Amino acid sequence: MKSDPLFLEHLRLDLKQSTLSVRPPLSRLNTWKLGGTALALLNAECEADICSTIGKCHLNGVPWRVIGKGSNLLMPEFWPGILIRLGKKFRKFEIVDQDFSATFGAGIADATAALKLSHKGWSGLEFLIGIPGTIGGAICMNAGAHGSQTCDFLHSVDWIDEQGNWRRSNREELYFAYRSSPFSTSKKRVVLMAKFSLCSRSPEEIRKKMAKFHTFRIEKQPQKLPNCGSVFRNPPNGIAAELIEASGLKGKTFGCMQISKVHSNFMVNLGGATSDDALRLIEFVKDKIWIDHKIELNTEVHTLT
Ligand SMILES: Cc1cc2nc3c(=O)[nH]c(=O)nc-3n(C[C@H](O)[C@H](O)[C@H](O)COP(=O)(O)OP(=O)(O)OC[C@H]3O[C@@H](n4cnc5c(N)ncnc54)[C@H](O)[C@@H]3O)c2cc1C
Repeated sequence: MKSDPLFLEHLRLDLKQSTLSVRPPLSRLNTWKLGGTALALLNAECEADICSTIGKCHLNGVPWRVIGKGSNLLMPEFWPGILIRLGKKFRKFEIVDQDFSATFGAGIADATAALKLSHKGWSGLEFLIGIPGTIGGAICMNAGAHGSQTCDFLHSVDWIDEQGNWRRSNREELYFAYRSSPFSTSKKRVVLMAKFSLCSRSPEEIRKKMAKFHTFRIEKQPQKLPNCGSVFRNPPNGIAAELIEASGLKGKTFGCMQISKVHSNFMVNLGGATSDDALRLIEFVKDKIWIDHKIELNTEVHTLT
């Protein structure tokens, strides 16, 4: 990797509309409130700046990664790369009456998208109401809840590929599976915006459905302590939370990171937890579940690599 000051200076000089923050505090960039710092954070305001940053990172061997709200990311104490966060330009949306479609910028919050559609009386993405991420993160993770997942309503995605080319792919061209997409397997692709196909329903019905989802979360998930949602993917034919509970791990604590007493697949930051606390607890759970149930748990939460 080239020496920091020059590399960052060259990066900054070529930016057209975006800004670069050096050594951003990572704990402000994820819902777990973990982590130290990264080399820099690009607040991206145009595609050209994303492409030029990615290109320079490739040339200099500097890692880069696009992030949303960090609601499914385990941040390290130091990350020697550039984080790309989509700014205002990527929070636009368009709702087209003729074909019941809606196009959302990848930086828009899931709940905002769900609310906009509910006002219109368009149904499909109600489940996004309780997911604290962005549309880009929802597509990458194929986020889902209450029996629906993001790919179910997807029409097409605009994205930047590994070589920095702009692409548009229809849903049929993209392979999605449980919490997985072509964007989560590569991690070197940037979702810019997505078009969804929806159906019409009364706004009242939609509101009721979203209120039900909201109540469910209040009853079943920790509300006050920082967390990143489900830490582990459900194994085939099993439920991670049930396995963890059966192993008596509810409330197990490493440092300041605890397996939630409310939901066993959530880990909560009791205040001042480190990334290392989270990693140690994750490894401990994996080992214990293997010993007790002979089942391998895989993490749903992504790490920066
Ligand atoms: C309280 C709570 C409840 C949750 N409930 C659910 C739930 O019910 N269902 C569910 O599926 N998840 C749930 N989650 C997890 C999380 O909110 C989702 O996975 C969400 O989709 C992540 O979005 P994000 O914008 O925060 O992405 P981040 O956490 O920032 O990133 C996650 C991954 O997506 C990639 N990514 C982000 N933006 C882009 C982009 N524009 N282009 C390409 N890749 C991108 C990142 O590189 C990273 O690999 C929950 C989390 C919390 C804290």
